[in-house]
Amino acid sequence: MSSNKVGFVSLGCPKALVDSERILTQLKLDGYDIVPTYEDAEIVVVNTCGFIDSAKQESLDAIGEAISENGRVIVTGCMGRGDDAQTIKSLHPKVLSVSGPAAYEEVVGAVHQYVPHTPIHDPYTDLVPPQGVKLTPRHYAYLKISEGCNHRCSFCIIPDMRGDLVSRPIGDVMAEAEGLARAGVRELLVISQDTSAYGVDIKYRTGFWNGRPMKTRMQELCEALGEFGIWVRLHYVYPYPHVDKVIPLMAEGKILPYLDVPLQHGSPEVLKRMKRPAAAEKSLERIHAWRSVCPDITLRSTFIVGFPGETERDFDILLDFLREAQLDRVGCFQYSPVKGARANDLPNPVPEEIKQQRWERFMTLQQEISSAKLQAKVGSTVEILIDTVDEHGAIGRSSADAPEIDGKVYLNGITDLQPGDFVEAEVTAADEYDLWAG
Ligand code: SF4
Repeated sequence: MSSNKVGFVSLGCPKALVDSERILTQLKLDGYDIVPTYEDAEIVVVNTCGFIDSAKQESLDAIGEAISENGRVIVTGCMGRGDDAQTIKSLHPKVLSVSGPAAYEEVVGAVHQYVPHTPIHDPYTDLVPPQGVKLTPRHYAYLKISEGCNHRCSFCIIPDMRGDLVSRPIGDVMAEAEGLARAGVRELLVISQDTSAYGVDIKYRTGFWNGRPMKTRMQELCEALGEFGIWVRLHYVYPYPHVDKVIPLMAEGKILPYLDVPLQHGSPEVLKRMKRPAAAEKSLERIHAWRSVCPDITLRSTFIVGFPGETERDFDILLDFLREAQLDRVGCFQYSPVKGARANDLPNPVPEEIKQQRWERFMTLQQEISSAKLQAKVGSTVEILIDTVDEHGAIGRSSADAPEIDGKVYLNGITDLQPGDFVEAEVTAADEYDLWAG
């Protein structure tokens, strides 16, 4: 067996996926081969997720499997910090190295240490595609613009794991986006913990892209990304007043009319206890104003029900909020304590059966809203980015659908398409999540 083969297990959210892509790109640049099986690998890297207890358990299971199947394991990612790192070391003492999230150099350094490899330089072989190694299909890619978060939401331990906000220089972000667009990527998904805060940590410093001065700020970033002529989708945007400035770019078709705004609740009292950013902003007014500028905007959000101290009145306020906001896509979670989160100390926990009942009431209402919004699209023409094609037809997404988390558009019987194609088609049917077009 040659000694440059590395196995890789990537768990967690899109931010962790981007970390995996960076590590894999560097390993390829250093001459390592990435192999898909434990038995072919000389060593296995596991990128862990530590967001909630079930994700931690999945990470621990993946480490255990890699140890028993291969034996030489390097662990990195969100579980690689603090108490969780200790848990890993005590449960799996054979693990060779443990590092935290975005610790690219440490991981790559550990691979070099345990699997020394000196590549034979071959100027005719380019091991790494110009856009770097991507774990997403070739036609869409995540673009991570910052790391960490300056907020301290009481239910969240991400700032403890990933630290305060660190924005990537705008020149680097744009160069990466340009490379991806040139390599054939048709959709960029902008991600971070708080996209609207981009540049706050460096006082919106002016950077350069292709010799052009640009401020490190969400609006300038969106304007420049809009020049590539591909889909640009914004995730994790808080409803701050300055977000209003990117809505005209959506109305003009420069970036997708889509905003992923994690609102978490509608009751000011609960939001205060959650210590949410923009809790005082008038989210509903903002939503109405956005729709008046860009009526086609798709709004996605996530909510938590059963947060400590949530009363029946708070929950009614949340349902009223949903009725008025008429959001397109909504995820809802029942509150569950995360080890180390400040919310664990809050009084008046909500009993499990009440959480479940509230979740069901929430979902029933939101499903009615979401399906009515999708039904209203029947008869309209939508642009679709094709994700997969087989002998039964093609499956794609409209501007209203982010990959993995939203719905799909089914083009039954249409087989002469390729993943990454854009097509226009008339919507013929809808259910509560998906569309059919032809
Ligand atoms: S905004 Fe709040 S929920 Fe989001 S990462 Fe920061 S602390 Fe966590």
